[in-house]
Amino acid sequence: MAIRNIREIGDSVLNKPCKEVTEVTPRIRELIDDMIETMYDANGVGLAAPQVGVLKRIVVIDCTGEDLLVMINPKIIETSGEQTGGEGCLSVPGKSGIVTRPNYVKAVAYDENMNLYEVEGTELLARAICHELDHLDGHLYVEKVEGELMDVAQEEEDWEE
Ligand code: ZN
Repeated sequence: MAIRNIREIGDSVLNKPCKEVTEVTPRIRELIDDMIETMYDANGVGLAAPQVGVLKRIVVIDCTGEDLLVMINPKIIETSGEQTGGEGCLSVPGKSGIVTRPNYVKAVAYDENMNLYEVEGTELLARAICHELDHLDGHLYVEKVEGELMDVAQEEEDWEE
């Protein structure tokens, strides 16, 4: 496993749509392992493959530090409610902004063995799923920020993806 370089806003790889994964090859498995290690190393709660420069529909999320989700070809199939709160991104270091997201999300994805599973999340997990899936379509949260993007001190960041 290795920690990969996190691409930052301005890098065009973050603005491109990602391709579906058809098979979990050893290379894809290595990518997933590296994404997990990179996410934890950066104290993020989620990371999408384009953030490490790979245009594949893969995200990893862990909102609690003990509930790792590997999502391959994820799709949101249901949303409800609304939450408005602070959001950050490992690709936009030192910044945060207010974004409104659904408060409940149901998604389907494949795991590392290409088994389809369903995941439901509320609050932070719902926010993280929406944020990470946006990355797969080349979108960053800064496009959705209400008001100004704010500077944050490292210790004040409540979470980053
Ligand atoms: Zn992000």
